[in-house]
Amino acid sequence: MTVVQTVTGPIDHTALGVTLCHEHLALMSPALPHQYPWLYDRAAIVEHVSAELVQAREAGVGTIVDVSPPDLGRDVRLYEQMSRRSGVAIIACTGIWMDIPRWFSSASTNEIADVFIREIEVGIADTEIRAGVIKVANSRAVGIGEVQERVLRAAGRAATHTGVPVTTHTSPYDVGLEQMRIFDDEGVPPHLTAIGHALTGDVDYLGRVLESGRYVSIDQFKPGRGGEDEALAAIATLCAEGYSSRIPLSHDHVPEWDWRPHPPHEGVSTYCYVPTEIRSRLIALGVSSEAIDDMLIAAPASFLSGGRL
Ligand SMILES: [Zn+2]
Repeated sequence: MTVVQTVTGPIDHTALGVTLCHEHLALMSPALPHQYPWLYDRAAIVEHVSAELVQAREAGVGTIVDVSPPDLGRDVRLYEQMSRRSGVAIIACTGIWMDIPRWFSSASTNEIADVFIREIEVGIADTEIRAGVIKVANSRAVGIGEVQERVLRAAGRAATHTGVPVTTHTSPYDVGLEQMRIFDDEGVPPHLTAIGHALTGDVDYLGRVLESGRYVSIDQFKPGRGGEDEALAAIATLCAEGYSSRIPLSHDHVPEWDWRPHPPHEGVSTYCYVPTEIRSRLIALGVSSEAIDDMLIAAPASFLSGGRL
């Protein structure tokens, strides 16, 4: 039995069900909910996100992995309420995104790793809610400078130490190759890493990630987004090559955020898009339902179990 940590406690990997490995629940400017609490209607946020999660559950989703680290306003107490209200299991992350707080600039790699390890082994903030995944983020625009590299190495060390895997934000796609080089340099077992934001038709790139023994997270499916046909064709090719159990699919959906106006909360939640629309389109491309279940159930379960399945 392999146990995975959710915001309501540990569950067996077989209970995860259809799992979306790269999503967000509510993005908030770090620190502001504590400094300007009157700006945040926490009850309304819980109500709206829970309603979207209920739609996801009705579309067959069992688990959502929230990959919002502290600098995206992570709030595990809200996530716990959302999970209890919706019946969807939620996995919270440790790690850091691209708005790296100043503390990190003078912290050593091991000091950063110790923070990630504490959130995995003890709890996040003053809760007993433990992180079930490590999130790191890099982009070509920001670059992988000294601090970013320390964060990547710390994430790798925390993953190796705890067996909890790392998932990455990349932009553009080939930033993933640089992340892989740094994880390799740290000796991180490949099965403890997923290179993310890989919605691309570039089969060579996707193949390079998969051949290295990693997971490739194809996680920006959204209704109306371009480039989907090419990505779906690439997924069909990779499934035919037997890689379906290492390709988790997801949306990178953000139902609530405090710095962008969002449309009224109506219609079908984007959380439902992969398990319904994308599933049908993959079947139309000749991908077997077994391979689709691999991507939606087996790949996330084995990834979140640290590749131990
Ligand atoms: Zn994301």
